[in-house]
Amino acid sequence: MNWTKLIRPLKSNFPRRDFLRGLSLGTAGLVTGSRLGCLAEVLSQNKNRKLGVVLLGLGKYSTNQLGPALRATKRCYLAGIVTGSPEKVEKWTNDYGLKQQNVYNYQNLEKIADNPEIDIVYVVTPPALHPEFVIRAAKAGKHVISEKPMATSVVDCDRMIAACKAARVQLAVGYRLHYDLYHKEMMRLAKEQDFGPFMKMTGDRGFVFGQRAWRIDKKLGGGGPMMDLGIYIVHGACMAANGAAPVSVTAVEEPKTKPELFNEVEETIRWTMDFPNGAKCQAVTSFNHSADKFRIEGAKGWMDFKEHAFTYRGIVCETSRGPLTYAAINQQAAQMDDFADCILTGRKTQVGGELGRRDMAIIAAVYEAARTGKRVDVKL
Ligand code: NAD
Repeated sequence: MNWTKLIRPLKSNFPRRDFLRGLSLGTAGLVTGSRLGCLAEVLSQNKNRKLGVVLLGLGKYSTNQLGPALRATKRCYLAGIVTGSPEKVEKWTNDYGLKQQNVYNYQNLEKIADNPEIDIVYVVTPPALHPEFVIRAAKAGKHVISEKPMATSVVDCDRMIAACKAARVQLAVGYRLHYDLYHKEMMRLAKEQDFGPFMKMTGDRGFVFGQRAWRIDKKLGGGGPMMDLGIYIVHGACMAANGAAPVSVTAVEEPKTKPELFNEVEETIRWTMDFPNGAKCQAVTSFNHSADKFRIEGAKGWMDFKEHAFTYRGIVCETSRGPLTYAAINQQAAQMDDFADCILTGRKTQVGGELGRRDMAIIAAVYEAARTGKRVDVKL
């Protein structure tokens, strides 16, 4: 029997555990002796191969972070691109040595179903377009990563999760900070409660945004800084709460200093999140000031991300026990390698669609609180 032929068509259409289960049942009575050795070898080769990733949407994040990170990954590599801009194709194919048959556009995306070199589609477009592309990629039988925010509504998150479930592919959100050493330490502290539960949290995330683009276009971005930057504080606070989500929120939108630019979305918004154990987070996000800070306090100690709390490098972090200094890691490479490993081993990703949906539900509550001026319960 040609095991390679057996494995190839199955691997991109089924989660690994389904594949292994199917294979072991189907071959239980047949495989003995040297055949068993051959099967073990093929399985081990398959487990050790590098998965092919296509980047869909070749803007700044793909160009400056994800593409370069895919040169550093060990479990996956850049196999192709999906782009709506033909003028970008030559540079990408030259820079990464991509095959012409692995170049797709937004119209012929479905054809990746027939391409065994592609295992993962990474959607890196404005948020409102994530659902369409994630669903199309899943229907083509590919595992999917959606950039954050996962979508612009909870209903769309549900559609994405359902499509991936129906296609039996894994869905991850680009929550790279789960792989960052400082944030891993925060999760450890939250879990082991070294400093006690973190009861008081504060966050500020912003940059000055001065041009018309999808980040301030309600239809494409779903909102302004809350969707683009505030989501980091939402997510970080849930990490610091050991994975719990807030039960209710309050919010106030500040008056706009550039109403002509921020005519569709907020410019600055302040909000609070109340957690089930009584912990509180006070946060602000803005396209009118620069900040990237996050501080959490428990009865027995504190952790303070003083600079670059949520960015790729340059994190400055102190704790009540002294400064933390970890070697910088490539967060994006670690994130993509872990996803590839999940697919190869059948493990479920720790940054699945449910987390993206949870954050979307919290953000929706924050917007409703700002609109109504009332405390709003988070409907998960
Ligand atoms: P960008 O504007 O630089 O790139 C967007 C890409 O989408 C471009 O290639 C553009 O051609 C394409 N696109 C397709 N249809 C479009 C449309 N109708 N309008 C506008 N662009 C369209 O944006 P970016 O900074 O690369 O962000 C893309 C995604 O990545 C967003 O979801 C963003 O939140 C996310 N992002 C994540 C991080 C992170 O650290 N995880 C960092 C930056 C951006």
